[in-house]
Amino acid sequence: MENLTLPELLGDTHVDEKTRERFSKDASSYRITPQIVIEPKNEADVIKTIEFARNAGLALTARSGGSGLSGAAIGPGIVLNFKKYMNRVLNVGEETVVQPGTVLDAFLKQMHDEYLMLPSVPSSSALCALGGNIGARSTGPRTARYGTIDTFVTSLRFVTARGEIIDTRETLPEYLEQGLRKIKQEYQNDQPSQAIINARPYIAGGYNIKALGKYENPAEMATHLMVSSVGTLGIVTEIRLKLLEHTPSLGTFVAHFRSIEEFAEAATRLKMLSPAALEFSDASCSKHVSGKILNYSDPSIVGTLIVEFDDSLQQADAGRSILEDYKLSQLWEIPSGSDDEAALWQDRRQILPSIWKYARQRGWGLPSIIDDIAIHLKDFSAVHRSIQELMKYLDLEISFFGHLGFGSIHARPYFNTTGQELIDQIMIVSSEAFNILRKYNGTLVGEHNAGRSRSVYLEPELGPAFTYMKKIKDLFDPDDILNPKTVFDTDPIFEHMDFSFQ
Ligand SMILES: Cc1cc2nc3c(=O)[nH]c(=O)nc-3n(C[C@H](O)[C@H](O)[C@H](O)COP(=O)(O)OP(=O)(O)OC[C@H]3O[C@@H](n4cnc5c(N)ncnc54)[C@H](O)[C@@H]3O)c2cc1C
Repeated sequence: MENLTLPELLGDTHVDEKTRERFSKDASSYRITPQIVIEPKNEADVIKTIEFARNAGLALTARSGGSGLSGAAIGPGIVLNFKKYMNRVLNVGEETVVQPGTVLDAFLKQMHDEYLMLPSVPSSSALCALGGNIGARSTGPRTARYGTIDTFVTSLRFVTARGEIIDTRETLPEYLEQGLRKIKQEYQNDQPSQAIINARPYIAGGYNIKALGKYENPAEMATHLMVSSVGTLGIVTEIRLKLLEHTPSLGTFVAHFRSIEEFAEAATRLKMLSPAALEFSDASCSKHVSGKILNYSDPSIVGTLIVEFDDSLQQADAGRSILEDYKLSQLWEIPSGSDDEAALWQDRRQILPSIWKYARQRGWGLPSIIDDIAIHLKDFSAVHRSIQELMKYLDLEISFFGHLGFGSIHARPYFNTTGQELIDQIMIVSSEAFNILRKYNGTLVGEHNAGRSRSVYLEPELGPAFTYMKKIKDLFDPDDILNPKTVFDTDPIFEHMDFSFQ
């Protein structure tokens, strides 16, 4: 480090311990202290940083909001933080253009004033920023009806590991264009790999291999491969989105169930109505949130469904009558635009922070290892039951919640051990959960995407289809400068874990 000449930038370069410490964590259970933190002011700073990283042999990790839950916004070399300066909305309209460090909540407020909506809003919207939303391919409750952020991305500007600017509105450089065409052709001739990719749940993570089949134009392919690549293919400097007209809720229901089987059946029936959102939490979560709707005293309740409709009043009526078929403990109907509606979603956003607090108060670890399960909705009961049995066997408490409308389950076991015993338990939980999910074509790499605790399972899950991820990485970043060890060649999952900050 002493012999390195730091790049001359318009933005800031930090090598002091305090700043490096601040950027040593994201919202996952990992901590890695970078050698340098750079806060670029413009694209030229990004290019200079990449050139510097290449020459110095340092890994480069992009970071926007730092709310990622897979340890993919931290790294040992340079952390490139976009939130401080590259945080402006450049255009609003037919095509909305935004810089990667723009905090999502601020962006949404501005869009709301224009009667526009981006429906993929993670519960971390106060913290996360658009660059990370692209990197992790964010979702939110309304992904159930409207899709992930990928649906709304029209094109991107990004800087490659070689330091070139790519604008996917334009023609790609020859090597990328030809390379992507070749990989696409191989994929299209490879029926077994296509079958594996197509059998995965809707929000299964890893690179978006489906883009190879879906898009003809290599520039479009590049756009949709960049989304969900956790900063390993290029560094995004500008995001262009096609937003929807704002659509308010026409009816939201909260149903407290006494039976998991009834709960799962109701979820499947409700999903057929195409609700805007279909969320769930179990009784364990509800003990820890504070509001009056998700927190209750009836001990017979096992789980809660939140379902929101925005298509028509008839759709909402059909949803109500499905819920009335069950022996519910309670059914709330939440008026659109009411204080209760705002309080409900605030409580929903508070589930993870509340269970973090519960674990912290007891000195327990809550590692982000099986918090990102994605399944096919029909398999909810079976997967839930199998994981509960595993927890019973290991004598561990667990909380479940998630965006059930698109098969997302956040499973959070509480670990009350330390040292080798803790490591052994973590390894058993993650490997057994992986085995359970394999039976149902589910995955441990879902909404929060690839990273230090689960990428190791991508190769056994994808089999021959994993080679396409490698080919794509080799095409974009053959020297593995961008965010190494987050998708390929990962360290053991307990390495760099640190629960002291949860
Ligand atoms: C309480 C809580 C609730 C959450 N709820 C949800 C949820 O409902 N839905 C959901 O999808 N996620 C959720 N998350 C996870 C996380 O907030 C999302 O993944 C979010 O999209 C990450 O955005 P960020 O800006 O914080 O990204 P970061 O953590 O900064 O980065 C995420 C990834 O993107 C990469 N990246 C960042 N900027 C760039 C760039 N400019 N170019 C290339 N790559 C880049 C990073 O290298 C990293 O790999 C939640 C997290 C928390 C803490």
